[in-house]
Amino acid sequence: MPGKPEEIKMVSNAMANAPRRKMMSLLADGDRTVGEIGEAVGKSMLDYHLKILEQAGLVEIKDGKVRLSEFGKNFMEGKSEKGPVKAVDLSQAKPVEIAEVRQLIPCIADSTRFRIIANMAPPLAGALKHLEPLFPRGRYSEKIDALIIQRGDVLITIYGTGNVTMTMIKDEAEAMSALEGLRSTINEAIAKGVAPAPREKVRVEPMEIRKYLPQTDCGECGEQSCYSFAIRLMGGEVSLDLCSPIKDEKYRQNLEHLRVLAEYI
Ligand code: SF4
Repeated sequence: MPGKPEEIKMVSNAMANAPRRKMMSLLADGDRTVGEIGEAVGKSMLDYHLKILEQAGLVEIKDGKVRLSEFGKNFMEGKSEKGPVKAVDLSQAKPVEIAEVRQLIPCIADSTRFRIIANMAPPLAGALKHLEPLFPRGRYSEKIDALIIQRGDVLITIYGTGNVTMTMIKDEAEAMSALEGLRSTINEAIAKGVAPAPREKVRVEPMEIRKYLPQTDCGECGEQSCYSFAIRLMGGEVSLDLCSPIKDEKYRQNLEHLRVLAEYI
C-alpha cells in the first residue's frame, strides 16, 4: 500500500486525470476487460492510462482483464465515504471594487520593480479562503488571513481586511491590469454564487519536473539547463511547448507525466 511521499504522489498523479478517474469508477463496479474499459472511456492512450494506474498500485492487469487492487478498493471506498467535494456557497459575498491604490514604491529585492499597496472593498473576510481554487497558484494562509497568489515573479497578497499588496510589478499599468484581473475573477465567482470545489493539494518541486525533462541541458528552450527551465515552468513564466526535445516519441510517457504535474503548478 502506498505510504511514502513519492508513492502517494503517484496515486495523486494517477487520479489527477479525468479518464483515469472514470476507469477507477468503472472498476469499482466490477472487473472489466481492457476492451470494455476502452469502449466506456475511450481508446486514446488506453494502455498508457492503465499502466499509470497499475504503477500507482491502484489496479492489477492480467490476461487482458483489469481489476482494482486491494489498495485500489480501499482508495475508492474512502472516496465514496467522503462524498463528492462540494462547491462553496458564495451567495452572501458582495462584489468587490478596487477602492484605491495607495502606494507604488521600489521593491527591496529589485529596485527596477515596484511594490503596490491597494485596497479592495468591501473586505472579503470569511469568503476569502473559498476563493483559493479560482487561482491556479493561489494558497490561503489561515495564519495571516490572506490569499497569496503567485504569477511568475509577481506575488499578490489579498488580505481579509481588503488590503492588497503586489511585489515585483513593472509599472502602474501592470498593477492596474493585475488588480482588474483579480476584481473580475472574484466578481465572476460571486455573481455565480459559488466558488469551485477545493483542489487536491499536491506539492510539485522543480526537481520533480526536471526528472521528466530530457535532462540534456541542450538550451533549445533558451535556458541554460533543464533545471532552470523547470524553475521557470514552476513560476508560470514559460510554457512546456518551448522544450522541443520532449516532443520526441521516446519521451511520450514523460510528457504525459509533465502535463499531469503541470495541473498542480
Ligand atoms: S529544451 Fe528541454 S531538454 Fe533542452 S534544456 Fe530546455 S528543458 Fe532541457
